[in-house]
Amino acid sequence: MSDEFQRIFGTTPTGVWAAPGRVNLIGEHTDYNDGFVLPIALPHAVRLTAAPRTDGRLRLYSAQGDGRTTDLPVAELAPGAVAGWAAYPAGVVWALREAGHPVGGADLYFDSDVPTGAGLSSSAALEVVVAAAYRDLYGLPLSTPAIGLLCQRAENLFVGVPCGVMDQMASACCTEGNALFLDVREMTQRQVPLRLAEQGLELLVIDTRVKHDLGDGAYAGVRAGCERAAGLLGLRALRDAPSLAAGRDPHPAAVLAAALAQLPAELVPVVRHVVTENDRVLRAVELLDKGEFEALGPILTAGHASLRDDFRVSCAETDLAVAAAVAAGALGARMTGGGFGGSVIALVGVDRTAEVGAAVTAAFAAAGLREPALFTATAAAGARRLA
Ligand code: ADP
Ligand code: MG
Repeated sequence: MSDEFQRIFGTTPTGVWAAPGRVNLIGEHTDYNDGFVLPIALPHAVRLTAAPRTDGRLRLYSAQGDGRTTDLPVAELAPGAVAGWAAYPAGVVWALREAGHPVGGADLYFDSDVPTGAGLSSSAALEVVVAAAYRDLYGLPLSTPAIGLLCQRAENLFVGVPCGVMDQMASACCTEGNALFLDVREMTQRQVPLRLAEQGLELLVIDTRVKHDLGDGAYAGVRAGCERAAGLLGLRALRDAPSLAAGRDPHPAAVLAAALAQLPAELVPVVRHVVTENDRVLRAVELLDKGEFEALGPILTAGHASLRDDFRVSCAETDLAVAAAVAAGALGARMTGGGFGGSVIALVGVDRTAEVGAAVTAAFAAAGLREPALFTATAAAGARRLA
């Protein structure tokens, strides 16, 4: 990678950093509702070879890009000024300067094995790796949560994607062997051990390799629906809607029903998803704490049903992958990420993984769909310096 860096930029790199993609175990579309999420980092990562520059220029090259180097004056970075993939790293440098960090230019060479547009958060990995490298190159006092928040700002304001903070927090803060239990409102986090292998289990990731075009606008639409529902209910966020889980509210079902009765019909299932999904995250964390990993399966499948039937962000391909995986013996399965395509995770006994994978592949072939990409995922480390 160092040779490539020298070939492209004609200078010597200072170091190499990595930031991972992620899969979310449970807690989908809850982050922008001030709720709970439970992602793990993937072994797949964006690697960044970097050197600072003293002339205020930001030069960007991606091995997965179009073979051209993007050259930008840092002082002129502004939302809307950079098009294409370069907006992600440029947005992070812009956000650092906006936050008052005294940063200048750099030469940045990216190489990644995170599938892009597959719901595995290649965009967050691309952002977080830039922030991690800049932190070290410019000696910035940035904690990992601060990096996550700053990268979300870059994606929201500079790239123009209204995403929540989960992806960036996962890439910045996850640790090896653990799921990251994040309370988005409080910005508190806990590393929860995910010892699947000890119980003969693993996570199969099924990348459907479809991304429906309606996805971007639809994401903004469901997010706006959540905010409207919270406003109508007089709540700061849907995080504050009455829970259905036993113990979290004295009369949960009745209280929730009364709240939902005030809403326009189309918002009722939207709220129900967010409420039940937050409950599922808390239940999943309880189970992980007790080491009851198999019991996670039905929670995953229930989460998928909620995204499909209530929140309506799944699609035929992810529904098929979930159904085929469960029918072939997966303990549970769900779409992961924003929806409208992307990837599915399935919790499987290691002795069933091949069978489940083959069943999903066969179901896709029978439906005339492109072959899905399959891999098993372990909980990997968050952003780090490699060299
Ligand atoms: P996801 O984050 O789920 O992979 P997004 O649509 O949010 O999907 O982000 C994908 C975009 O991120 C790509 O279209 C591209 O612009 C950018 N991207 C991600 N990884 C790379 C890379 N290695 N090189 C260049 N651009 C990348
Ligand atoms: Mg993304």
